[in-house]
Amino acid sequence: MVLQQAFLNDPAKWLSREQPDEPVYFFDPKTLRATARQFLEGFPGEVTYAVKANPAPAVLETLVEAGIAAFDVASPQEMEMVRRASPAARLHYHNPVRSKSEIIAGRSFGALSWSVDRLSELDKIGDLHGLEIAVRLKLPVSGAAYDFGSKFGATPEDVAQLLRVVQARGGLPSITFHPGTQCEDPQAWSAYIFAAADVAHQTGIPLHRLNVGGGFPAHRNGTAPALTAIFDAIRSAADQAFDGTPPPLVCEPGRAMVSESYELALQVKAVIGETVFLNDGVYGGLSEWRDIAPADRIRVFSHDGQERKGATFPATVFGPTCDSIDKLPDAVALPNDLQEGDHLLFHACGAYSAALATRFNGYGARRVVTLLR
Ligand SMILES: *Cc1c(COP(=O)(O)O)cnc(C)c1O
Repeated sequence: MVLQQAFLNDPAKWLSREQPDEPVYFFDPKTLRATARQFLEGFPGEVTYAVKANPAPAVLETLVEAGIAAFDVASPQEMEMVRRASPAARLHYHNPVRSKSEIIAGRSFGALSWSVDRLSELDKIGDLHGLEIAVRLKLPVSGAAYDFGSKFGATPEDVAQLLRVVQARGGLPSITFHPGTQCEDPQAWSAYIFAAADVAHQTGIPLHRLNVGGGFPAHRNGTAPALTAIFDAIRSAADQAFDGTPPPLVCEPGRAMVSESYELALQVKAVIGETVFLNDGVYGGLSEWRDIAPADRIRVFSHDGQERKGATFPATVFGPTCDSIDKLPDAVALPNDLQEGDHLLFHACGAYSAALATRFNGYGARRVVTLLR
């Protein structure tokens, strides 16, 4: 990505001056710092950032400046990126299936916490002394945009067994879970916390920590996320479930931390009746639109920087590649005075957008403009 800085608040001004005909991201460090503060002040425990949502160096550096000192990483490459932003960062290696060479790399990066969901993978780690082993619990819980329990996690019975093995081998036994991404229901966390406490009580093993995962929602479907309600639900469930003395808590937000701090600007290549061709799509920064409710705040600017305010029509939107499935899954409400050359500014594109974009057919964003205010 080519980085650029601009002294302005308003991406619309930059667009009307530069008229980019390639997709451009705008990064707003001020918004990212404010969200980091919201987590650090509101969450009752340690806040780690799940790097996969957006591993851009500027994002990691801004989070470090804002006081985030621990990171949820899934691969040696992510560990290296975090170390570059902060040599002292605490690494939580919470991808429960690892190759032998990844385990060697994780050890050499000094990862402190390792998640597991089956004995064979615990065996692979080898010596557990000094390592936090976070056993990943799965429940049939709803509330998220899609269910992470379908890939990883052990049943409560298996978690109990794994905790016993971890303790016998000298590891620090914790429980972790992940309610699934874009989870809007605070009860999902409560259900998991009560189940984790049940397992811990059954085994009689005091938990080193309880990691409540990521999954915190971003702005979607016209509503801002109710993070405070989720923090309150987590705090009160942990107090109740552990009779007033819960283990130290950890969370690992990805999406909710970074979503609001990027906007994505795309240009209209052609308008043909109710069909609109953009210069990016599901192979680029809008790839998540196939799986989850899309970013719902879109502003449209004419060539001279005026915001289009016309009544909306349901546009069929195609991306720029020659592939017929390069189409947004649902119609998008766009103003009826839309014209070729206009720019669309999509809010809340910080998570799972740049990180998932491909270079298919020679497209994909290559520029990030950092807004300095
Ligand atoms: C993806 C992931 C996260 C972050 O999820 P979000 O929905 O982006 O908050 C956190 N922890 C683990 C283990 C993950 O795999």
